[in-house]
Parts: sequence; structure tokens; C-alpha cells
Amino acid sequence: KAAPLGSSVIPIVNKLQDIFAQLGSQSSIELPQVAVVGSQSSGKSSVLEALVGRDFLPRGNDICTRRPLVLQLLQTKSRSNGGSDDEWGEFLHLPKNHRIYDFSEIRREIEAETNRLAGENKGVSDKQIRLKIFSPNVLDITLVDLPGITKVPVGDQPTDIEARIRTMILSYIKQPSCLILAVTPANSDLANSDALQIAGNADPDCHRTIGVITKLDIMDKGTDARNLLLGKVVPLRLGYVGVVNRCQEDILLNRSIKEALSAEEKFFRSRPAYHGLADRLGIPQLAKKLNQILVQHIKVLLPDLKSRISNALVATAKEHQSYGEITESRAGQGALLLNFLSKYCEAYSSLLEGKSEEMSTS
Ligand code: GDP
Ligand code: MG
Repeated sequence: KAAPLGSSVIPIVNKLQDIFAQLGSQSSIELPQVAVVGSQSSGKSSVLEALVGRDFLPRGNDICTRRPLVLQLLQTKSRSNGGSDDEWGEFLHLPKNHRIYDFSEIRREIEAETNRLAGENKGVSDKQIRLKIFSPNVLDITLVDLPGITKVPVGDQPTDIEARIRTMILSYIKQPSCLILAVTPANSDLANSDALQIAGNADPDCHRTIGVITKLDIMDKGTDARNLLLGKVVPLRLGYVGVVNRCQEDILLNRSIKEALSAEEKFFRSRPAYHGLADRLGIPQLAKKLNQILVQHIKVLLPDLKSRISNALVATAKEHQSYGEITESRAGQGALLLNFLSKYCEAYSSLLEGKSEEMSTS
């Protein structure tokens, strides 16, 4: 397996993101992340889960994702014993260092935490759930799972549910630093795709939108997605990746992600229509593409991030001074932030001073 590209810069960004989240409204720095958009049940959570390689997201043919889930993947060193204790999750709303090793418990916690704020009857809330996944098998990347676009209110949903969900989605993807995974099922019309439509609102030049076509396995007999994937139907600058996730029956039968990935590979191998498209087929290709694009994206953003961070640094230093000695916890927090900011700036300068070849993609 190829080493994750950009592993030198993404951990720093993730750390900053975490700190700014803890500091709440003091944050004014928009950091790159990847969000999934699309209509309900298009397969957004399935795609994210497959990228992570573990089963832990609520999925199904009903509204399952009802609060934004900010998912920070962190690569850990693989242990020689190969035990199962080297992958775990940590929630921001639970005590620090509370490691959850059982991924079905992570899913239950997401569901419980969803219900806590959004109620039990299909209600939707824009309050984030923040989860870190530590694993030797992931790329360092931050993903956001979002509720899907729905048209007809059900359960406790207000009559303007569609507008509310669109506003929520836009609040993530309109940030110029957000990469958008626009998920459209292959068994629906790409020209009517909710995902491409909302992505187009936020990113009209398509600089940061990747098309993902799901459900290639359940297309109408005699049809295939070759032209979609080649961008001949709706062109997309960053292109498309086609995937096959688990169907509802697979979920009920508890089919593992590993089985799903090999089934996906087998599917593409057995269909002549998909031959010669290997670079745009399958979850592993999506992971690769994402990481390459993210690194390029961060490189473009670095100058702007630097000036924002320098400004924040000056402001924080001033505030810090006004506290005098570091005895208060607030000042301690400021010192911590300063520390991380200067580390970031150092890392940034060394990148600019020619070390950047290290993280260049292919
Ligand atoms: P979301 O609402 O967009 O997050 O969609 P989910 O990931 O929850 O998936 C919705 C339903 O579609 C689930 O029952 C999945 O099993 C099913 N599904 C997702 N992707 C695929 C796919 O590629 N093929 C098939 N056959 N079913 C899929
Ligand atoms: Mg979902």
C-alpha cells in the first residue's frame, strides 16, 4: 500500500482545527476538510465508512445522518503484534482520552448523541458531532458526513426541512477551503443530481468538487456508467470516481467492509464496460485521489493561512501579555495556542524554503 501523501502537512492542519474547535468562536481560520453532499440515501455515509475501512456510521434506506459528523482520521503506527487494539475512536463530547475500541459502540454513541440533540423522530440538527478515528489503516484526513437533501418533511421535521438542510450543507461547502464529494447514485439521472447542483452553488468553477457515482451495481440492465465516469454527461474538472458499496441486505447480514471491497473489485473486473477506467473506479482510488487533491489544495491555501495565523498570533500575544504571568487557565490556553501557532508557522516556513518537493504529489 502506498504511503499517504502529504502526511507531513495534514497532521498540523488537523491539530489546528482541533484547537480552534475547542476555542469556539475565537476561531476565524477556515481549514481544508472534505464534506459529502447528496440526496438522502445516495450512499454518502457508506462512502465515508468505506474510506475509513471500518463499520461505524449509521447507514440505511431512511434518514440516518441527522447531525453533521466531523470525522478526523489520524494515522497511527502499526503495531507488530497486529492486534485489534490499535484502532479506536474518541468523541469530543466525551471525556478526553476516552478510547472506544468497539466500532459498533462508536456507532451507538453517534446514534445516542444524534438523538440527544435532534430527538428520536427523524429531527435534524446543525450541531456538530466531532469524532476522531485513530488507525494504522487510514490516510490523515478530515471528513464531514452531512444529512442528505430531502424534499418531503417526515416525523419531527419542520415544513421547511429541505431549505434548512441546504443551508446547513452550504455552511460547510461554501468555505473555499472545503473539498466537496458530490455523491450521486448511478440509478438516478446525473443531470438532475442534487449533489452536483448544490456543489455547483458553492463551487461554480468546480475547483474543489469530486464526483462520486454510487450504486453502479444496481443500474438498469443493459446500462453502465462509463460515460458518466468519463465526464461526458456532466463534465467535472476533478473528475468522477465510481464505487460499489454494500446494499441494505449486506448491512442486515453484517457483511464486512473487507468483503465489500473485494466484491467491488470483482464487480469492476467482471464488467467489460469498465475496463480501462481503473484510475476512476473503486474506494481505494477515491482515497488516493482525495489525498492528492487535498495536498495540492493545502499548498494553494498556505499563503493565506499564514497571514491569518500571523494576525491571530499578534492578537493572541497581545492578549497573553495583558494577563501577566501564566497562572490562569485561560492564559495557559493562550500559551498553548501560541505554541501550536508558532509550530505551524515554522512548519510552513520550512515548506516554503524548498522542502515542499517532499509533499508534492506524483
Ligand atoms: P446516505 O443517506 O447518503 O448517507 O446513504 P447511506 O450510506 O446510508 O446508504 C443508503 C442505502 O443505500 C443503504 O441501504 C445502503 O446499503 C445503500 N447503498 C449505498 N451505496 C450502495 C451501492 O453502491 N450499491 C448498493 N446496492 N446499495 C448501496
Ligand atoms: Mg448518511
